[in-house]
Amino acid sequence: MRAHEAGALHGEIGSRGPAWLRTPVDVNALVPQLWPRNVVRGPAGALTVAGLDVRDLAAEYGTPAYVLDEDDLRERCREFRAAFPDADVYYAGKAFLCRAVVRMIAEEGLFLDVCTGGELATALSAGMPAERIGFHGNNKSVAELTRAVDAGVGRIIVDSFTEIDRLSELARERGVRPKVLVRVTVGVEAHTHEFIATAHEDQKFGFSLAGGAAAAAAFKILDEDVLELRGLHSHIGSQIFDASGFEVSARRVLALQSQIRDARGVELPELDLGGGFGIAYTTQDDPASPHDLAKRLRKIVDGECAAENLAVPHLSVEPGRAIVGPAVFTLYQAGTVKDVDGLRTYVSVDGGMSDNIRTALYDASYSATMANRTSTAQPMLARVVGKHCESGDIVVKDEFLPADVQPGDLVAVPGTGAYCRSMASNYNHVPRPPVVAVRDGRARLIVRRETEDDLLALDVG
Ligand SMILES: *Cc1c(COP(=O)(O)O)cnc(C)c1O
Repeated sequence: MRAHEAGALHGEIGSRGPAWLRTPVDVNALVPQLWPRNVVRGPAGALTVAGLDVRDLAAEYGTPAYVLDEDDLRERCREFRAAFPDADVYYAGKAFLCRAVVRMIAEEGLFLDVCTGGELATALSAGMPAERIGFHGNNKSVAELTRAVDAGVGRIIVDSFTEIDRLSELARERGVRPKVLVRVTVGVEAHTHEFIATAHEDQKFGFSLAGGAAAAAAFKILDEDVLELRGLHSHIGSQIFDASGFEVSARRVLALQSQIRDARGVELPELDLGGGFGIAYTTQDDPASPHDLAKRLRKIVDGECAAENLAVPHLSVEPGRAIVGPAVFTLYQAGTVKDVDGLRTYVSVDGGMSDNIRTALYDASYSATMANRTSTAQPMLARVVGKHCESGDIVVKDEFLPADVQPGDLVAVPGTGAYCRSMASNYNHVPRPPVVAVRDGRARLIVRRETEDDLLALDVG
């Protein structure tokens, strides 16, 4: 327990937990902004996804399981396409990648970002056209760059002088001219709703704008001639709720664009503004819609280009979390329910930090609901925890669940589509959960559950 929580814990009932957490009027209600759009409570009281009862899903696929509302994901892709009609929308595959999702986003007209050989292999094996793939990463190996170049990947986002040398050598060797963007660090750091603008940025990604490395990288590529410099790229962080961080970054990166024009007489035709569009994890979160963000971004870019007397470049954006995060919930089963000294009730579920590390890693907040039935019991402040040997193994720090929640009940946690399965581990030798896609009343397994045999198959000693 952290010191600042102590007062609240010993205060009156109802004042426990963070100040924003209000006792809900109805523990059975689903807050729409937190759930995939085809999730509702059915007539029997259990959640249904596109018409399927979660109790049936649990019986068929077991728990824990990630449940994807496929139409919700596709709708989010369409929203981004509609919000940015003349831009390329790259889905950031690191949020969650499997072949079925690659096909879904490709069918919806999105492009795809990858940042390792493994992600590239997944994208290509699902038939993603190579020219619609962007390849990121601060330490791409020669082998990875070779595969990307040979596959004909559309954009390589270069991140270091070493990489420029490696890629130039490869291009010469292979007789090709890869299209590249220069990743610029602009001194804007966005994280959990707020952003900070600094002169310098102390991080591993990209070329520093303030220190002059970004301009030097652009000049070097222009000089190389074996690489085709298409534009600049900046990605300022994650969980961005409004356009103010983008405003600072776009201004800075377009100033570099104009510096390059003045020095070399070249106007780079493209600009990638990165991802980081925020989503709601709790009722407290109120992110701007893709439509509103797009309008603001467009205005900022148009204004800056006019001020710098630049032609407006072709834009790209790279949403990951905002596409897949809200389209998925994790379905768990409660195993034990423990009241701890009258302070708080711990509901232990059959997964935990191995399927959702974000609470432990980033102090992220989530919400939860009892999923297999409704209840008329009083709301009770609960903490949903996992089954791992680690006291920080928390899935949902604070949530009101009905006081009669008991072992065997299903607990659903929304907003787990991004950075949960993709960061899942085998801690405590827990096999990783499956991903089940549901659409039009039909479920299909898109990533199967890992088994103990899978774990033992790697253990060759
Ligand atoms: C992680 C990342 C993204 C996606 O971030 P989200 O917060 O998931 O939208 C986009 N671009 C780059 C370069 C990234 O590293």
